[in-house]
Amino acid sequence: MCPRRSSTSIEIGVFGTRKGDRLKVLFRKWRSKLYLDGPVCSACGKELLSHIRGGMCPECEKTSVKLGTDICGKCGRVLANEAEFCDTCIRNERAFVRARSCYVYEGAPKKFVYRLKFGGRRYLAAFIAEAMVDRYLDCDFECDCVVAVPLSAKRKRKRGYNQSELIAEELSSRLKLPLIDGALVKTKENKPQTKLTKREREENVRGVYEVTSPEAFKGRRVLVVDDVMTTGATLGEVSRVLYKAKARSVEALTYCSTRFVSPSENILNEEDFYEDEMV
Ligand SMILES: [Zn+2]
Ligand SMILES: [Zn+2]
Repeated sequence: MCPRRSSTSIEIGVFGTRKGDRLKVLFRKWRSKLYLDGPVCSACGKELLSHIRGGMCPECEKTSVKLGTDICGKCGRVLANEAEFCDTCIRNERAFVRARSCYVYEGAPKKFVYRLKFGGRRYLAAFIAEAMVDRYLDCDFECDCVVAVPLSAKRKRKRGYNQSELIAEELSSRLKLPLIDGALVKTKENKPQTKLTKREREENVRGVYEVTSPEAFKGRRVLVVDDVMTTGATLGEVSRVLYKAKARSVEALTYCSTRFVSPSENILNEEDFYEDEMV
């Protein structure tokens, strides 16, 4: 699409209208660019007869690994064997009660995350939230409020939005749970993890999140929301600071989680994981 031509048509279309109306028209035009015209699969682009919950066609759904009960009892990732917990959870203590996700981070769900996070397709947050609501109910979560894993102010400025906040907003309105906004912040940018030793990596994750309004979490059962969980290190650290703020319980829900990574990589930071994946 030629951006110059579309901006010209907007100018002509709204000429002579009141300022409020003009803003409404501009908003609608902007929104129509974000949303596709007819229902299509948000992973493969195939046209759909009607809207499908989760935004994925049956073929893409069939090739995705949906998580059920064969998962680690703690972090909710798919298990390679019949153990109760994955190796990462056996080796690393995480503060959250449990984490659960909808899909393994590959195939169509991975495309959803990429397109939301790096492709600017904010509308995908609604589809992602639909799948997460189903998972929330399947897993019998009972939380009082929702909070997104924050990005640092610098990173959020660079991207323009925090994809986890978009998902958390959608979840909050669908589950009718209050969204806690601005009370949990990321105060420091993590150093690149790749050249750090195991011990340094543990320390690198610590102390980057801060609760600025503890009363927002005190005595509440908090649901922490993120797009992808790799090892649970970030969710564990977020949970630790929420418990310090006297949260009654902390559980986590993500759209995807990765398959088990090798023990030497088991405390990789989530954001570095994304950066690696982008190259
Ligand atoms: Zn599809
Ligand atoms: Zn685990």
